[in-house]
Amino acid sequence: MSDRLIEALRQTLGDRGVIDAPSDRARYEQGWRYGEGVARCVARPASTAEVAATLRLCAEHGARVVAQGANTGLVAASTPDRSGAMVVLSLERLNRTIELDAAARTVLVDGGVLLSQLNEALLPHGFWFPVDLGADPQIGGMVATNTGGTRLLKYGDVRHNLLGVEVVLGDGTVVSMLNRLRKNNTGLDGKHLFIGTTGVFGVVTRAVLQVAPRPTQRTTALVACRNGEAVLGLLQALERDLGDVLSAFEVMGQKALEAVFRHHDLRRPFAELPAYSALVELSSTLPSSALALDALLEERLGAHAETTDDAIEDAVLGSGEDFWALRHHITESLRSDGDVLAFDISVPRSRLPAFTRDVAALLARDHPNVTLTDYGHWGDGGTHLNLVWPKGAVADRQALVTTLQDAIYPLAVERHGGSYSAEHGVGPHNQRFYDRFADPAVKRLCRALAECCDPGRLLGTVRLD
Ligand SMILES: Cc1cc2nc3c(=O)[nH]c(=O)nc-3n(C[C@H](O)[C@H](O)[C@H](O)COP(=O)(O)OP(=O)(O)OC[C@H]3O[C@@H](n4cnc5c(N)ncnc54)[C@H](O)[C@@H]3O)c2cc1C
Repeated sequence: MSDRLIEALRQTLGDRGVIDAPSDRARYEQGWRYGEGVARCVARPASTAEVAATLRLCAEHGARVVAQGANTGLVAASTPDRSGAMVVLSLERLNRTIELDAAARTVLVDGGVLLSQLNEALLPHGFWFPVDLGADPQIGGMVATNTGGTRLLKYGDVRHNLLGVEVVLGDGTVVSMLNRLRKNNTGLDGKHLFIGTTGVFGVVTRAVLQVAPRPTQRTTALVACRNGEAVLGLLQALERDLGDVLSAFEVMGQKALEAVFRHHDLRRPFAELPAYSALVELSSTLPSSALALDALLEERLGAHAETTDDAIEDAVLGSGEDFWALRHHITESLRSDGDVLAFDISVPRSRLPAFTRDVAALLARDHPNVTLTDYGHWGDGGTHLNLVWPKGAVADRQALVTTLQDAIYPLAVERHGGSYSAEHGVGPHNQRFYDRFADPAVKRLCRALAECCDPGRLLGTVRLD
């Protein structure tokens, strides 16, 4: 049966601009971790004007739309629902513009440009976009989820590095806020509406980012810590003594590393794995002849260890690549181990050990066959709790997931003053907890904004009101 919306989209975007064959649609319908649906079609506009035309046509036909970047999001927000009625608006062809202003240290990029593509273009100029992570997202997707990443401690998240945006609203109106200035106090800074709001207020088609000078040297250590308090003590000492050059502070729990070594033939840093291994990275634009980072780190770690009464058990300096490989292999190693339920939680840093102990106690009491593995961006108060149980061991998986989420999210939010989604944003995967924890006044504000930006209420798979 012919579909008039698909025909109209094809006339506007051309054959390359529309995908409707089920086998070709499949990769746009499946999320990286969560999210599986059926699309009416995939629209692939290649310019802002085409994004606007696509949204106008969808509005005319009353078709709901989900914007999709690189589809690496982890809360099921980038894929259509199961109705078969939603249009996936893929930004993958809107990826040509990368205009660097080296003197201003800013870059204008299309929303569909991949992070790797941007960094490749910046490399010859000695710059990089320092929001750094183990996936390769698009810039528009990074804006919509306010990506954090492993070097947030030094460089901040996307919000800290975004100067301006161009967006298309739900009715096809193009709003240009392509500010290139670092200082510009002239009223409403509308870009913030579109940062971390998962595309429900508009589609990001271009962005102005500030870029950073690329470090010329890095040094890395893995530090064995007796417990969470020892990790926090180390973090405080490093920030106090080496704060200017500290660029990452990631933490891997014992069980997380055990899983990595079960599935990968990688070099073990310690004979016995400690409760926590802290990955410490220093970096600088100064040459090593001016600042010897290796020696500095070794000396500071040694001095700190002497003051801690064996809370720091060991430390190895070494190749960053080896240590980061351990960190980046955790997720899939856990998946090889069993069934996994992942939590992306933040609490005030000072509460990380107590929060983790509370979760461990809860599991020991109520779910002894569920293993707690934790790792994450402790430098930013972020912890990825991954709960693992043997595949097939649980008769009703969904019931267990619901029980665990209902116990752990309130523990994070209500008892420890944390967030149920530290950096992955809001999506169908955690909508229930947005509904529960978001302030009613904020929801009312979001409703008013959504009615203004997306009068037909057609954008996105989540509701912030
Ligand atoms: C291995 C791995 C490691 C990761 N590590 C981190 C990490 O360290 N820190 C972190 O913060 N995240 C991390 N993530 C999550 C993910 O990479 C980020 O959320 C990423 O920024 C999503 O970008 P994307 O282009 O893939 O967007 P998608 O997944 O395609 O979309 C995500 C959301 O943004 C919306 N969206 C996409 N493009 C646009 C647009 N142009 N305009 C408006 N809305 C849009 C979608 O509708 C959806 O709601 C990781 C993911 C993986 C798979």
